[in-house]
Amino acid sequence: MARMEPRKRIALVAHDAQKQDMLAWVAQNKDVLAVHELYGTGTTGAKVREATGLAVNLLKSGPLGGDQQLGAMIATDEIDILIFFTDPLTALPHDVDVKALLRISTLKQVAVACNRATADFIISARQLNRRYEKGGIE
Ligand code: PGA
Repeated sequence: MARMEPRKRIALVAHDAQKQDMLAWVAQNKDVLAVHELYGTGTTGAKVREATGLAVNLLKSGPLGGDQQLGAMIATDEIDILIFFTDPLTALPHDVDVKALLRISTLKQVAVACNRATADFIISARQLNRRYEKGGIE
């Protein structure tokens, strides 16, 4: 059974209209996030790095394969939490990649936040800094 260690592997992704929201959320939670391992799709991750100085492992830009890279990492149990601020008002060229990422996250018991309210709940959850046994399909 896969599990999450106390130090979480957290992926950050924001669609263009949500990038400011992501930067504000990361800045607000910088100290909490700093003890975990951060990953980000290319543009989101670079902006977070630049704005906060946090160490972020950069993947490809989302539309250029970054969402698929994250999906592959999730399939191999390398991501615990996905903070994915999606754009609910715009049709995106990589919509199929977005769907695939959410599907594999659901399957693999990744904790997913698609908006700031859910991200706030996840970041303040008591499980964040503890070991967590996942009940998902292996
Ligand atoms: P980006 O990708 O961080 O490279 O902009 C986000 C996305 O659209 O998936």
